[in-house]
Amino acid sequence: MSEFDADLFVIGAGSGGVRAARIAAGYGARVMVAEEFRVGGTCVIRGCVPKKLLVYAARFDHAFEDAAAFGWSLGTPAHDWRALIAAKDREIARLEKIYRANLERAGVTVIAERAVFEDDHTVLLKGSGRRIRARNILIATGAHPIRPVFPGCELAATSNEAFDLDRLPRRVVVQGGGYIALEFAGIFKGLGAEVTVVHRGERVLRGFDEDIRLAIQKEMETQGIRFRLSETIRAAARADAGLRIELAGGDEIEADLLMAATGRMPNTSGLGLENTGVALDPRGAVAVDAVSRTSVAHIFAVGDVTGRVALTPVAIREGHAVADGLFGGRLEAVDYGAIPTAVFTEPEIGTVGATEAEARAGGAPIDIYKTSFRPMKATLSGRDTKVFMKLVVDGESDRVLGVHIIGEAAAEMVQCLAIAVKMGAKKADFDATMALHPSAAEELVTLRTKWQPG
Ligand SMILES: Cc1cc2nc3c(=O)[nH]c(=O)nc-3n(C[C@H](O)[C@H](O)[C@H](O)COP(=O)(O)OP(=O)(O)OC[C@H]3O[C@@H](n4cnc5c(N)ncnc54)[C@H](O)[C@@H]3O)c2cc1C
Repeated sequence: MSEFDADLFVIGAGSGGVRAARIAAGYGARVMVAEEFRVGGTCVIRGCVPKKLLVYAARFDHAFEDAAAFGWSLGTPAHDWRALIAAKDREIARLEKIYRANLERAGVTVIAERAVFEDDHTVLLKGSGRRIRARNILIATGAHPIRPVFPGCELAATSNEAFDLDRLPRRVVVQGGGYIALEFAGIFKGLGAEVTVVHRGERVLRGFDEDIRLAIQKEMETQGIRFRLSETIRAAARADAGLRIELAGGDEIEADLLMAATGRMPNTSGLGLENTGVALDPRGAVAVDAVSRTSVAHIFAVGDVTGRVALTPVAIREGHAVADGLFGGRLEAVDYGAIPTAVFTEPEIGTVGATEAEARAGGAPIDIYKTSFRPMKATLSGRDTKVFMKLVVDGESDRVLGVHIIGEAAAEMVQCLAIAVKMGAKKADFDATMALHPSAAEELVTLRTKWQPG
């Protein structure tokens, strides 16, 4: 009999943990996974999936408004927030069931409890008090939203609560300038709320291409979303009709909901890591090497808890790689080059590869191609919106280093373009590609003039 109860014990059944568990079990390993909340993790339960469902709901706003220009006559549309949340909950329950069934079908033992380390090989299940000895352990505990600290900050909701509000707030203040902040600003606006974004930076979406940062703010302002930039919240308090939010600059805003979208922290505290030799990095994330191994040779970590790239497909790829490495004899580093990402604002952003600033930082000559135009749909509807596209090209090799798009279906375009960027496509390959007409994406293969500053 083995001295271990499991070949792999996975802590956390989110994107990374579920994938690692299933692949490991597929290799014949004895796998257990502990989940303290709901199988599926952040992405399925309170991240990507419910977010996108709410984004779909919010986008009907523009569809209804634009419809008249195409000959439709509609009554006054009304929205039922509770019906939306109930539908979203049904879909998430369905997905959770599928995730659980897939794990079980693969032969993984799913344990609905919190698991913490007792030592390098032992986890304690907090509910039952059972101890499990595992040959290998994978930390896939994800991250949690943080609240900024100011008097009354406990009145702020985070993305966790925002998915389950019992009614649609009429006036919303979103604190933060990252993608989650902007996506929720768009959701609430689309569903009819007045929205103000308060962000301490001068611009939203740090890390994105500067042109994208400016253009998306303009688009959102055109729709009536207010931005208070270089500004922070000093205090929040209950007021008669909701919340009174005091800004550091002295202004006050009345709101029904204050949502903090100011960042996420790896879930490492209370995990018993002090009972192991697992080291954390200075930001409190689990420190790992290129193959996701921690400072203890048989303990691995993947996904948001490692503070690398906090995206679902990345966590999945990392979890898959750990399982391949441990049980498939292929211990390989994940390739983090050219990860496509989207921001599901209205209009949405899709981006892959280097920003202009990143490309220029290398010192090599960089060519920029960009265009901004009115989408065809807006010619009839009259909607004040622009598609923006930008290619960042290496001036010497002609390789396309980055693609940045704002516009309808930008995420879908960029997922496909990511293949070309990943393969090392050159601008000449884009030029040689026949356009698909009429589409917005055809502009990407017809950009001929280098952008000249000034
Ligand atoms: C609002 C929002 C929108 C997002 N949108 C996108 C998007 O559009 N695209 C995208 O790619 N990414 C998106 N993300 C990010 C994405 O959700 C995460 O990167 C991804 O879920 C990380 O997967 P993970 O496996 O590391 O952790 P998680 O999916 O967070 O899973 C960790 C799991 O571990 C469990 N757990 C923690 N500690 C313990 C313990 N001690 N014992 C047992 N269980 C434990 C947790 O309950 C959780 O279920 C979004 C995130 C948020 C918050």
